[in-house]
Amino acid sequence: MSLIDIHTHQKTDSPTALCAIYSNFEQVDAVGIHSVGLHPMMVQNYDAIAIKSAFGAMRQDTVWAIGEVGLDKRNKEHWDLQVALFQQQITIANTLQKPLIIHCVQALDACLLYLRAAQVPVIFHGFRKGLPVAQKILQQSYYISFGSALLKDAALQNCFKSIPLHQLFLETDDAPITIDALYETAANLLQTEIENVILPIQENFKRVFKLA
Ligand SMILES: [Zn+2]
Repeated sequence: MSLIDIHTHQKTDSPTALCAIYSNFEQVDAVGIHSVGLHPMMVQNYDAIAIKSAFGAMRQDTVWAIGEVGLDKRNKEHWDLQVALFQQQITIANTLQKPLIIHCVQALDACLLYLRAAQVPVIFHGFRKGLPVAQKILQQSYYISFGSALLKDAALQNCFKSIPLHQLFLETDDAPITIDALYETAANLLQTEIENVILPIQENFKRVFKLA
């Protein structure tokens, strides 16, 4: 199995890189694996046709997860719409039994509140906060995914060392980096062999997506 990248915006046909789509939902195709979601920063831009197209795309076989979805305080002008669409997409994730990829900015308590309705695995992507925030997420048995910030943010690197491997993912998101660089950094931080990062994340991937 190649390296798991749980959240990328690069078009890829890798079977282990989850390509996140938040617009032009017809671009979901038969190759690769995808997550599809109405992005919290863009809720005001989706018209009825786009929403219908997103919900349709979520049903496709190559769409393995719903996301990125969630709440972002920077878009508080459209907060009510964010909440409504977040709740709707949690319901869809439950119906389709597909995991949720969460985008959460300055809205952790609200995200956790609405996620009580979720009956699928939950992954918080692009984590860049401290250990107290991480612990609130981990306590719910959710997963935390780290991206490019892990390469250079010393405080985040310190927090990373306390994250249990069985709740961890790595991601490139929209950063111009390779997923290899993240695995290497993670192994260095944990002072271990890279296999000791690769294997637990593969296990997490299999557990979350119910692979044999
Ligand atoms: Zn993203």
